[in-house]
Amino acid sequence: VRFVVDSMHGSLARWLRILGHDVAYLRDLDDRSILARVGAGSVLLTSDVQLFRRAIARGLSAHLVKGKSPSERLSRLAAALTIDLEVDLKRSRCPECGDVLRSIEKSAAGSRVPRMTYARYDDFWECTGCRKVYWQGAHWKRIRQTLAKARSQVKSIATRPVRL
Ligand SMILES: [Zn+2]
Repeated sequence: VRFVVDSMHGSLARWLRILGHDVAYLRDLDDRSILARVGAGSVLLTSDVQLFRRAIARGLSAHLVKGKSPSERLSRLAAALTIDLEVDLKRSRCPECGDVLRSIEKSAAGSRVPRMTYARYDDFWECTGCRKVYWQGAHWKRIRQTLAKARSQVKSIATRPVRL
């Protein structure tokens, strides 16, 4: 697992999965159980300062999530941890469960998507875990816009003078 995300950040967990990262999204767990899930090579994402400090005190990797909008949270995360904010559908994971997606034949999606969707799109993916079917529908425009905005914000963070 690359990222361990606490219950506050379901949206961030979904974004990171779309970007292809292995994310454990933990709901209804106490701090001790959350910290136990942060293994070597994984990073805890939280905006709980106490939890963040406990993680750092234990020598774990952690990032304090800040920002008002999804793009701002993403850009701060990307700047701090050098994350690529481009979507590659070959790497994307299921935003719902985090499992790997695989491309499927259009005919295999036929009975599982709305008829209008089937008529309009040719490329479909299936989650190897929960079996949910995905396609690049109208909402992809918004996904790309949010990522483009986040990328431009990363640039402004990177060029901001460091305060000592
Ligand atoms: Zn899934």
